[in-house]
Amino acid sequence: MDTTNTLLQSPFAELKLHRIPRGQGNNLRAWDAADELILQHLAEQQLPQDGNRLLIINDSFGALSCSLSNFSITHWSDSLISQLACKENIKSNQLTADINLLKSTSNPSGIYDLVLIKVPKTLALLEHQLITLKDHISDNTVVIAGGMVKYLQKSYQQLFEQYLGTTTTSLAVKKARLIFSGTEKKDQAMPSPYPLQNDYQEIDLQISQHANVFAKDKLDIGTRFMLQQYDKLPKANQLVDLGCGNGILGIMVKRQQPECQVYFVDESFMAVDSAKDNYFNPVNLDSQQEQDKDNFLPSNCLQQTTLADIDLILCNPPFHQSNTVGDQIAWQMFKQSHKALKQGGKLWIVGNRHLSYHVKLKRLFGNCRTIASNKKFVILEAIHDS
Ligand code: SAM
Repeated sequence: MDTTNTLLQSPFAELKLHRIPRGQGNNLRAWDAADELILQHLAEQQLPQDGNRLLIINDSFGALSCSLSNFSITHWSDSLISQLACKENIKSNQLTADINLLKSTSNPSGIYDLVLIKVPKTLALLEHQLITLKDHISDNTVVIAGGMVKYLQKSYQQLFEQYLGTTTTSLAVKKARLIFSGTEKKDQAMPSPYPLQNDYQEIDLQISQHANVFAKDKLDIGTRFMLQQYDKLPKANQLVDLGCGNGILGIMVKRQQPECQVYFVDESFMAVDSAKDNYFNPVNLDSQQEQDKDNFLPSNCLQQTTLADIDLILCNPPFHQSNTVGDQIAWQMFKQSHKALKQGGKLWIVGNRHLSYHVKLKRLFGNCRTIASNKKFVILEAIHDS
């Protein structure tokens, strides 16, 4: 039975909101107390006003955008899932909304009257967003951020102070808090450190990565452990780097097997873009072709792709969606991999030992063997044999 609370009541609207994918153990609410607090505060301040341009940043499943859908909204996010959920919630609530869904890898345009920010998990992403925001606010712009107290360390508030102006906070309500930011520093030029550039000398790669991409400046230990097994990697004509991040896993296969078609898939626009930059860096590879440009695919697992008859899928699964920890995405990745693999095709997973992915893989594929293990990680292989 689906016991999810889906009814969001705010001074602006009464909406039924869902996360995506619906059901399948994804029974958490599609909004949090910080969304409620932002909406309550706006109503008390009689905001937005008619004709206002709104920029809504990191709206997880569209709770803010849907509630304020009578206004002109740009929904700016690094998450394809957030944008898909926002679209679905607009449709299922039969809203007639003028919402511009803008990827994190593009910049907003013009000046906004009201900017609402759901504070992201990654401090670097917030930093990038605040630096970009400077060009899109005026002295009259109202900037309000919200987040759950447990994630709002002091460093978040300091970023607003550093890049935008004097910052104050609200009292906590239901464990959520608002940040009110001034705009007086908007004209002070501050160069952005993103995308970061790093030399990964141990694998001889130059890695560029946008602010929200996994493993900021050093090789993740799980990724390293997977790379250490590449001498056992089967030959593949078509390979998918699922949840590609900066693309290291797929790029290193392409180096070893230049004839292989490698597809890079991630739900983060910044990840897909970074993987593409790194793949086409001639220092990293010299076997790229012009048509490979089509192999970089933003997708919720493999759902938005048509990938089929795949020989090998490599995956270092995430263990959280937004701030929610769990293996629900990994499970979705395994199921969709099973569908996309050809007969005899293989899925290789690297995971923390304690996550017991082998149980799930065995249930789904009917087989699972350990390629390698150390104190922390296992590399598992499941073969599509039915
Ligand atoms: N493969 C990279 C590596 O080994 O360095 C990154 C691995 S990181 C643990 C997991 C990646 O999965 C992140 O880049 C994250 O954006 C991506 N991800 C999370 N949820 C996803 C989803 N639903 N669909 C596709 N990718 C997702």
